[in-house]
Amino acid sequence: MDSLCCYKLVVGKKIIKCSQCKEEFENGYGYRMHWEQKHFYPYIRKNSFDFESAKRDKENGANS
Ligand SMILES: [Zn+2]
Repeated sequence: MDSLCCYKLVVGKKIIKCSQCKEEFENGYGYRMHWEQKHFYPYIRKNSFDFESAKRDKENGANS
């Protein structure tokens, strides 16, 4: 009973963790804004997306 109660309290506070870095957000809007600015727009090339740079940055971020 008690453990179930604690579990509900923990999950009740929704935190969205960025899949690309360590940042956390309290709502989807903040996460989306962050993700687009940090992990999407910087890699946009003319008519394409720079997947190689994005992948490289993600790997670097995970190691540091
Ligand atoms: Zn991020």
